[in-house]
Amino acid sequence: MLTPDQTQRLRERLTAELTRLAGNAHSAIGFTMDRDRDRIGRDSMDESAEEELYSTQLRLHDRETFFLGKIQEAVRRLDSGEIDVCEECAEPIGFKRLMARPVTTLCFECKTAREQVEADELPE
Ligand SMILES: [Zn+2]
Repeated sequence: MLTPDQTQRLRERLTAELTRLAGNAHSAIGFTMDRDRDRIGRDSMDESAEEELYSTQLRLHDRETFFLGKIQEAVRRLDSGEIDVCEECAEPIGFKRLMARPVTTLCFECKTAREQVEADELPE
């Protein structure tokens, strides 16, 4: 069970991540618009290099959308008071672990026990 202070700190952490991801998503949209404008204005840029850059940007965007969903889910879990409850063994997840990985739903033991590596890390 988290203390009110810990809950508050975790909420701030999640809110900061949401803001950061929303900002990134925004610049991805800006990139798309710039690309369209460039197409009309000039054709000097190498087509394949441009395509490459564009698909990288889209992949990044997909990844961010994925993490955005995870963070929104974490906020929901925080609101309902279950963010620090391991979804596998129902043991509490340590506050330090939550601050390091606020989107995790597993305690350290269960996470380690799981063979498959699941993406609960936040994007760099
Ligand atoms: Zn567990």
